[in-house]
Amino acid sequence: MKIVYIFNYLKAVFSFKCPKCHKGYIFKYKNPYRIFDTNKMVDHCAICNQKTELEVGFYYGTAYVSYALGVAFLIAYTIFWKVITNFKLLPNDPYVFKCLFSGIIILILLQPILMRLSRSLWLSWFVPYDPQFKSNHVDK
Ligand SMILES: [Zn+2]
Repeated sequence: MKIVYIFNYLKAVFSFKCPKCHKGYIFKYKNPYRIFDTNKMVDHCAICNQKTELEVGFYYGTAYVSYALGVAFLIAYTIFWKVITNFKLLPNDPYVFKCLFSGIIILILLQPILMRLSRSLWLSWFVPYDPQFKSNHVDK
């Protein structure tokens, strides 16, 4: 039961769905690589009418989440690179530079997705899942 709940939660977060109903899409555009529209969100969920911006400046905290996601990615990428090439963590090893350079390039390319993921995570921490969202009242 708990596993199903966690799976559904992660599925909603990673597919950028509303944390309350797990059905409505919370961003205006599906493509995260529309550079100037990456973080544009709908005002209310189309399914359950949940507000996406709970208060003014609600998403300032996502900078920390995005930073943590970026660091976690770089650590995982370095471990992956270390397992593949078995490089030494020494400055004169050429694999250190290759690992860092490629990791930073991939991180820059992933940034729109990480920014959306951080917003989706942030919203899900403040809006709990409500299986009876249809019968419960939501403020407009
Ligand atoms: Zn919803």
